[in-house]
Amino acid sequence: MNTLMKDQERNVLENKMRGLYITNPGEVSLKENMESRAPEQGEVKIKLIYGGICGSDVSVFKGKIAHASYPVTPGHELLGTVIETGADVEVAVGTRVVVQPNSYCDECERCQAGKTNLCVNKKSLGVNVDGGFAEEFTLSAKYILPVSDSLSDERAVLIEPLAVVVHAFKQVTIGKDTSVAVIGCGTEGQLAIALATYLGATITAIDINEEKLESVTSYGDITTLTPQAVDGDLEFDVVIEAAGVSPAVKQAVDIVKPGGDVVLIGLTAEATLPIMKIVRNEISIHGSIIYNFPFDFADSLEYLNEPTFTVDPIIAEIIPFNEYERAYEAAASGEHAKIILNFKGD
Ligand SMILES: [Zn+2]
Ligand SMILES: [Zn+2]
Repeated sequence: MNTLMKDQERNVLENKMRGLYITNPGEVSLKENMESRAPEQGEVKIKLIYGGICGSDVSVFKGKIAHASYPVTPGHELLGTVIETGADVEVAVGTRVVVQPNSYCDECERCQAGKTNLCVNKKSLGVNVDGGFAEEFTLSAKYILPVSDSLSDERAVLIEPLAVVVHAFKQVTIGKDTSVAVIGCGTEGQLAIALATYLGATITAIDINEEKLESVTSYGDITTLTPQAVDGDLEFDVVIEAAGVSPAVKQAVDIVKPGGDVVLIGLTAEATLPIMKIVRNEISIHGSIIYNFPFDFADSLEYLNEPTFTVDPIIAEIIPFNEYERAYEAAASGEHAKIILNFKGD
């Protein structure tokens, strides 16, 4: 082999690529010679553009997800371009796509009932099966959704995390002048604020972090409060709990109107709740997990296609993927909104 050949060229020739790799909790590294697998029947290979770092990526990195398996390539919020297709694939090479990162079998009772998000055979990219934080990624074409040309890469990479909120909002009715409280202003909380704003709701954002409260005012006319500052008389039609801690769940029930709805999207292990209040006031509590595909993804894409849907403040920084240590540190600090890894090589 020509020794002058650049690493990158050699990698292309040998079907090698660079990708992130978590050997054990706390140990993330960049592998230079990862294999880029050729697509088989029904599969596509994509060249990554962006990868969003999610709270669950941070949890896998920290060893906080019980069903995670190691070693694993992290990453599930993926935007890329199809560069190769196997047999029986209708999507053309060159199409920009996002990935639905939770597999479903289509056969179990829950899938048959249309609840693919609850599939008993579900596997999650970057958690218990290799994800896509790599230059290239090969997967079943069943899990990709083409993105309209007019949508920027920066908005397209938000389709997956926004789909979580789109699904959560379908549990309740949020429209013009619905009073909505969002507890927790991390990525999902901010996306909930963005969507509720777009739908014309009256929004109160609650977070312990004053800087985050300050930043969510850029989505629109948002009232902001720390949990301690919430007045005993305040009541909301809908409360979205996106903090994922038990005092937030408790507060969600405290501040919902009689006959109102609480939607839980934060993953709190346990909380003690005033059942008497819930029963006497007919409060509905909804759990909401990920999304159904393709419906919630398609709706998420539609919202992002709307120029008046304000979501841009969500991206805190776009970081080249070889600076993954800095990117993971920033994401793990919990002080920023979305950190995006750039795989474009520019
Ligand atoms: Zn995610
Ligand atoms: Zn299933």
